[in-house]
Amino acid sequence: KESPAMKFQRRHMDPGGPSNNSNYCNQMMRRRNMTEGRCKPVNTFIHKPLADVQAICLQGNTPCKHGQPNCHKSSSRMKITDCRETNGSQYPNCDYRNSHKERHIIVACAGNPYVPVHFDASV
Ligand code: C5P
Repeated sequence: KESPAMKFQRRHMDPGGPSNNSNYCNQMMRRRNMTEGRCKPVNTFIHKPLADVQAICLQGNTPCKHGQPNCHKSSSRMKITDCRETNGSQYPNCDYRNSHKERHIIVACAGNPYVPVHFDASV
């Protein structure tokens, strides 16, 4: 079964990306299985090596959006792509807008080893 750490990587890690392509989000959201059963409305892909993202778990502790205590904010800005469903998107034809940004990111970490398991926000 997929562990929470592997699920985070499937949903949020794309160190080699983004491809220079206006269909990036449409392709990636489908390829990473976030358009099965419904279109996931918002999802962020992180374009940094896994080790750099795992290191965020040792960086500034901050409360998560929903109040849990185990979120951490990256000390540096990271290249990300924010994928948001368009108004016209209709399952099963999930359609997304790409938005490339450089932001601090906030992830929740858990387990032993203590690794990212949830993407909370970019700020
Ligand atoms: O913020 P909210 O609780 O609605 O987020 C639900 C999910 O959407 C998160 O668990 C995360 O996977 C994704 N998300 C994201 N990037 C954001 C906000 C939410 O990937 N900026």
